[in-house]
Order: sequence, then C-alpha cells, then structure tokens
Amino acid sequence: MKSYFLAIYLLFSFIVSAQEINIIPKPLEINVGKGSYTLKNKVTLANYFADMKPDDPLTSYLTNYLKKYYGVEVKLVPKKFNADIILFPTRMPTGGALAYKFSVTQRGIRIDANFEESAFHGIQTLIQLLPTNTTDRKEIPVVEIYDRARFDYRGMHLDVGRHFAPVSFIKKYIDYLALHKLNTFHWHLTEDQGWRMEIKKYPLLTSVGSKRNGTIIGRYPGKGNDNKTHEGYYTQEEIKEVVQYAKDRFVEVIPEIEMPGHSSAAIAAYPWLSCFPNRPTNIPSYMVSLKSVEQQQKGRVKLVQETWGVFDDVFCAGKDSTFNFLENVLDEVIALFPSKYVHIGGDECPKTHWKQCPSCQKRMKELNLKDEHELQSYFVQRIEKYLNSKGKTLIGWDEILEGGLAPNAQVMSWRGEAGGIAAAKENHYVIMTPGSHVYFDHKQTANEDSVTIGGFTTVQKVYSYEPVPKELPETQTKFVRGAQANVWTEYMNNTSKVEYMIFPRMAALSEVLWSSKENRSWDDFEKRLLVQFKRYTMWGANYSKAYFDPKSTLETKK
Ligand SMILES: [Zn+2]
Repeated sequence: MKSYFLAIYLLFSFIVSAQEINIIPKPLEINVGKGSYTLKNKVTLANYFADMKPDDPLTSYLTNYLKKYYGVEVKLVPKKFNADIILFPTRMPTGGALAYKFSVTQRGIRIDANFEESAFHGIQTLIQLLPTNTTDRKEIPVVEIYDRARFDYRGMHLDVGRHFAPVSFIKKYIDYLALHKLNTFHWHLTEDQGWRMEIKKYPLLTSVGSKRNGTIIGRYPGKGNDNKTHEGYYTQEEIKEVVQYAKDRFVEVIPEIEMPGHSSAAIAAYPWLSCFPNRPTNIPSYMVSLKSVEQQQKGRVKLVQETWGVFDDVFCAGKDSTFNFLENVLDEVIALFPSKYVHIGGDECPKTHWKQCPSCQKRMKELNLKDEHELQSYFVQRIEKYLNSKGKTLIGWDEILEGGLAPNAQVMSWRGEAGGIAAAKENHYVIMTPGSHVYFDHKQTANEDSVTIGGFTTVQKVYSYEPVPKELPETQTKFVRGAQANVWTEYMNNTSKVEYMIFPRMAALSEVLWSSKENRSWDDFEKRLLVQFKRYTMWGANYSKAYFDPKSTLETKK
C-alpha cells in the first residue's frame, strides 16, 4: 500500500484546496491535489457494476440523493470513461475486500471498489464532499482517497418495544446509518411494553400484545399514568420492505425477539407462556391505567406493561409448549430476515417465578441443573440448537454467559466490557455495546432538560471509546467484531427525540468503528463535527446542541 500511495503522493502537490475535506468517519488516507471539479446540474453516470439498470442500488441511491438535496439530474449512460461519475469494479491492491478508492480529477469523479458495498461507501464519501448549503456551487477539490473500515460490525440498535416507530422512520434511521457508513441495524422488536412484529400463527401477539392501555408519566416511578393507548406493529409485508430498503443501502437487519425475560407483552397475549397463567400482572396502583384496572376487574389476568423496569413474569422454562411457541415464532422471523443472526435477548430475566414453578423445578431435577442460572443456560442452548439447525447464529446480551455459554453463540456486552472479554477469551465472537460509552439513551449534557433514563455520555466520551479492550490477550482480539450503540426508548416517545438522542453521538461512533485507531483525534473530529451539524440540518435531522453547552463536560450528580 505504501509504495502505491507514495506514487500518488508525489504526483499531487501539498497545496490544500480552499475547500476543506470534512469527512466523517475519517478516511484512511486523503491526498489533496491541485484544483477542483464542479458538479454540474446535469451529470452523466457510468455504473460498471450494473450498467444501464436504473434500479441498481448504487445508481438509484446516488441519483435520488443528488436530486433530493441539490436538484441535480443524473443521466445513466453506458459504460464509458468520459462520464462525469464512474463507478468501477477494481481489484483493490491492498486493504481487504471492502476497500475503495475515491478519486476526483478536474474532469470528473471515479470510485473504484471490489464490490458494490464498498462502492457505496465511496458514494457516501462523495456525499460528504458536497456543500452543506444546497444552493452553493458543488465544487469538490481534486483529491484521492483510499479507505476501508476498521471493524466489520458497525451497528445501531433501536428499541421499538417501549415506543413504536413507524416504518417511515425506520427507513430514515437506516438512511442515517448508511450516511455514517454503519452497516448493521439491530431491530429490538419485542418488549414487556409491546410486541411489534406480526406473527401469523399467533395473531394475539399483535392484536393484544402490541397495545398497552397507558404509560407512566415522566421519569420512573412517574407521576401517574397517562391513560392513553400506545400501540403499533409491523406487518410481515412491512418488514420485508424494511429489510429490502436496508439491503439496498448495504445495511444488515438483525431482529431481536426477547426471551426468556422482557416477555410481558407476549404473556399478555398468551398467558400459558407464563409459569403462572392465573397470577395477575402486578402493576402498582399509582402506575396502572384506569382501563387496565377495569379490565382486570372483569377477569383479564395478564397485561402489557405500562411502566419501565424488569418484571418477574417471564417465559416458563419448564413447559415444552413455551419452546414450541418460540420455535414457531422464530420460523416466521427466519423466513423474513436473511441475516445469518437472530438476537434472542437473554438479559434481565429474574428467576423468582422459576424458583416457585413446579414445571421449571421438575425440568431442573430431570436435567440435573444446579440452579436457575443453569436453567436459563438450558433455555438459551435449546433455542440455539434450533436456530443452528436452521443455519442461523444466536446473539444474546452478556447474561447468556451465566450458567454456561451456548456453544456457538455471539455475545453483546452491555454491562461494561467484562462479558465481552470473558466470551472472547472463550473464542466466542463479541460485539461491544457497553453502557459506559455507547448507550444513547443517556443524557448528553449536565444541563439536559428533557427526561432521560439517566447516565451521562457526551459525544466526546463516545469518541474516546476503544472497542478492543486492553485486557484482552492479542490472540483473542480477532473475536471483537465491532461495536454498536443502543437506543432504548423508555424516554423517547417520538421520533424527533430519537434523533436528538442519536445525533451527534452517532457521528462519533461511526469514527470509532470505521477509522483506524491511529487516525483518530478528538481535536480534528471537532472541526469536522461542526460541518456535520450543517449536514444534519440539511438532512432535516433534529440533533442535540449539547456540544455547544459549556456544562456538557461537567460531571453530573448521579
Ligand atoms: Zn415455569
């Protein structure tokens, strides 16, 4: 790579164009040349990956973006080298399969890549060289950029269980990921407070489980219940649409179906999934909605949760009917999501009911399990076996380590890094999502005036995150696939708030995951962040201004 770039280095002068290069995440190598190229309002595009197919993901994405923000008309032309923009399949000399080269000369723009996916990253780089003021001249400096991602797994999670988000926003969210060169969308589809995915075999999951009668007002324990129905779910057709939309942006969608905990909504739909089907859902009287009180008086036993937290009523691990149900659900999940991975949650499962349940205790005795943690391990391993038989790999939160890790499972480390370190030491792939650095439900400034779950994670703190823990022996670092930010929505009841919480921290995350460790510098990032704010404005995204708040760096009282 060095000699290859040395040659280019010598060709270009060191004179930096008047226009600055403000790309987030920072590319591996940038060599600025002399002069510039101006994108006209009508440009030709030669896409050697797909030739004249207008619906090719690269062609349609670039065409739509330039039209939407700049009114530029892109004319697709047959393969020829004098087109204004050329996308060209090239065997990249070094740097792995997903490297790309982006070049601007005074005659035009060219993106070289092995695959459409990496050419798409080149398109994102082009997008970031365009002005943030849509009416400005689209002047791009002569430049050569060589780039590739540091980590294969670059993810963002979204909890649609606590608060439902419409398909239109899910698509927007996927667009935001793509614009930051992130490649994985972890879709948290089921929760205590709502089941959000249509399952044809079990229609009550959505007709009952996707509706809650109310939600606590304000921060837990709240100031009463708002007594407003909150509901919503995705049909299987909508899910197909989202998966395809993501695929066209080279984003993989990983579904999460929570088990054995966080299952109140499923239990509300099918009470027999609980250890105690006749034991009413317990919501404290100062939190519960009037409608739920009335329904329980009329004989309804199980409710979709209306408050936040961890609840004792979980899937029964003793009854085979639970596993039959989950296998049937997973069959429909697998049919819709082409990803190799299915996330099964596995976190925050109290063992209170399992300790009291005759079926669960019988199972433990039969299998010689020494405690309820081993019963949870049995649960996860049984599900893993099923997923593996369908060609899928199980991902779970780090609690799946307790009682013994399922043999092929991958671990998402959220309670700090310890779980990730332990799993990587056992040769399991891990994804780092520690609450200390990448929980985007935390506040971003000490002055935060909206309600959040707590915690305090500034954009700078996110930027300081290093996904490969120091404690991990060198031989095991390859098991760190990357990292992800989690967006739990207890206190995000509208999509504008979601945007406010993810921006600009997502920009910092993207650089943590994409840019080389040596290339990362907060001071340099800050300068580019100011331009990113303008892009957010251009994209119509609501972002937090906490960066401009001098108090944003003060430690807050816990
Ligand atoms: Zn049980």
